[in-house]
Amino acid sequence: MKKEDIITLPNEHLRQKSKKIHVITDEVKKLISDMTSAAIDWEESRPHEISAALAAVQVDKLERIVIVRSEFDNKSNNHFTALINPEIIKYEGEITYDYEGCLSVSKVYGKVPRYNKVRVKALNEDGKEIRIKAEGFLARVLQHEIDHTNGIVFIDHIKNKKDSFYKLDSEGELQSLDYEKEIKDNHILWD
Ligand SMILES: [Zn+2]
Repeated sequence: MKKEDIITLPNEHLRQKSKKIHVITDEVKKLISDMTSAAIDWEESRPHEISAALAAVQVDKLERIVIVRSEFDNKSNNHFTALINPEIIKYEGEITYDYEGCLSVSKVYGKVPRYNKVRVKALNEDGKEIRIKAEGFLARVLQHEIDHTNGIVFIDHIKNKKDSFYKLDSEGELQSLDYEKEIKDNHILWD
């Protein structure tokens, strides 16, 4: 798959719940490999961004599969870990606000509240149950991706829309975004 296979808002499939995987078939494994290719292809077109993770709904497959990059700060490591039927079993720590972007929300970043720590249960590609105790950025990424499997996009968590959105400038720095202007020019985000 290519970056063009990644769907973006306002595609309504992003608001739908994905289905649970009952049997890990060759098709499921193929989908995981296709998702990885799409995530890497997207990243190769973006000098200042990484594909930290991707959910299957983002390539228009409504299945509860997420891939998460094994090393977030090393773009040369293209390995992703697949999580099948991932669910958060415990939220812990404080709620913190930080910047998030999404391959399915073009050009816009937002400051999103998330729990600092989560515990996640999932199946790996071999069908074995795995449990992850995550904090910081990984905890944020897992909450963002598991939201995707439930039809939730990061902008849905932003209550104060006026001062909470940003965009990347040509140097890769986040600049705050004029919300009123963006509604007029780029209304696909909010519909
Ligand atoms: Zn996303």
